[in-house]
Amino acid sequence: MRVAVIGAGVAGLVCAHRLTEAGHTCDVYERWPGLGGQAATIDVGGGHLLERYYHHLFTSDRHIADLFDELGMPDELQWRPSSMAFFLEGRSWPFTTPLHLLRFGPLSPFSRVRMGLAVLKLQKTAHDVAPFERMTARDWIRRSMGAQAYDKVWGPLLRGKFGDRADDISMAWLWGKLTMRRKLEGKEARQELLGYPQRSWEPMFGALRDRIEAGGGRVLIDRPAAGLRRVAQGFEVTAGAPGSFRTGHDPERYERHGEPERYDAVVATVPNDVFRGLLDDDLAEAIGPEYLGRLERIEYHTALCLLLELDRRFSPFYWTNIADPELPFVGLVEHTNFVEPERYDGRRFLYIANYLAPGDPLLALDPEALIERYTPGLRKVNPGFDRSWVRERWLHREPAAQPIVTVGYPERIPPLDTGVPHLVLANTTQIYPEDRGTNYAVRLGGDAADALLSRDLNSVWAETGS
Ligand SMILES: Cc1cc2nc3c(=O)[nH]c(=O)nc-3n(C[C@H](O)[C@H](O)[C@H](O)COP(=O)(O)OP(=O)(O)OC[C@H]3O[C@@H](n4cnc5c(N)ncnc54)[C@H](O)[C@@H]3O)c2cc1C
Repeated sequence: MRVAVIGAGVAGLVCAHRLTEAGHTCDVYERWPGLGGQAATIDVGGGHLLERYYHHLFTSDRHIADLFDELGMPDELQWRPSSMAFFLEGRSWPFTTPLHLLRFGPLSPFSRVRMGLAVLKLQKTAHDVAPFERMTARDWIRRSMGAQAYDKVWGPLLRGKFGDRADDISMAWLWGKLTMRRKLEGKEARQELLGYPQRSWEPMFGALRDRIEAGGGRVLIDRPAAGLRRVAQGFEVTAGAPGSFRTGHDPERYERHGEPERYDAVVATVPNDVFRGLLDDDLAEAIGPEYLGRLERIEYHTALCLLLELDRRFSPFYWTNIADPELPFVGLVEHTNFVEPERYDGRRFLYIANYLAPGDPLLALDPEALIERYTPGLRKVNPGFDRSWVRERWLHREPAAQPIVTVGYPERIPPLDTGVPHLVLANTTQIYPEDRGTNYAVRLGGDAADALLSRDLNSVWAETGS
């Protein structure tokens, strides 16, 4: 088969790699002038690459660890101690070990123990997500950990990530976070280890591209798909002009470029709204209103991520959760408290993380205005902070960064199989109950290839009479 894979994020690259292994030829279309999607890197100067959005792996992330091995890069992934804190009530509270929980001043001693025991019990006994699918995280937290734990810790965190949808977030989402990520027992109880590829995520993307191209395929960056339609026994993809990424994410706004190319099958790994925007009327009709309705009903929040190069260390922690609702950002991720600054010739990098509903006024700010808006909050965390510490800055926005997983979410997930033979959709909305991440994008890419290959092409065309 000749297959068009739309999107060169982790899912798209892995899918194309699996299809190539199975003897098919893939063209991968990518809007951005680089590989990796949400895990893409930028050149921060001096020959150093850094992800646009902070990235690390958990020890439970086996699919991506296996992929590094498979690609002949077993030593690429390094496991490093992490340090975490909560910022609330005017200070940062270390939160890496169970002892930190016992010393966590904002909660009463009883609430601290109750919170720890609730997580432990969940990890030990709750092996199935089903009982948690019909309740909100808020209700479970208030019942199992108490109102104080919700009001001081979890409520602000959920609001930071999901804004005004926080109270509706399904407990299934939190179950995934609390049970799969890290066990509060054994070696990891004392010190959480997180993974980071020693030369960034980029070499993995390059290795996947090389394998796809060695199989006769092409990985086409800065070449978005602008339109998709059905033709006899296949599909036609129309590309958008180079530089289209500057006009945003809506494929209908891309200037069309060159002759459409014909494929036997298509795997789209783009967000739901982008996929919808690619379809011509005939294909949309063939997919049908039920499936299209699912695409429309899932909401996303936008990641707004400001990366600062600072002339000094900002805090002692890698990861600071902001649980103070007065601060206009939700997390501080000091990359060089995780990977040593020597790796970057002594330079220091801090990500300021935010998740916002579409249309939030912060999304309209340019980097300078955002730094100004954030500075009072940064000073609350580190009173010495001054604008003169900032040597360089980069700002990225990802509209489809976080699907909003409310109660009843599983019924809204669009299946991989769109119902149109040999048209597969694989994106982060289908990662469930786990929280989306590169590890699950690796799994999804493989599942998308399987979904395509599970139906024999000739019998499919015979079946549909096309
Ligand atoms: C702020 C932030 C922090 C994160 N932190 C972590 C972390 O610490 N660890 C972790 O494992 N994961 C993390 N993730 C999540 C992880 O990056 C994603 O889950 C994963 O990369 C998704 O891969 P994907 O291929 O499914 O989707 P994407 O990466 O979104 O890939 C979709 C691709 O399609 C492309 N595209 C869009 N429109 C078109 C078009 N018209 N034509 C062609 N191509 C198009 C996009 O440019 C993109 O490359 C984070 C994400 C964000 C936003």
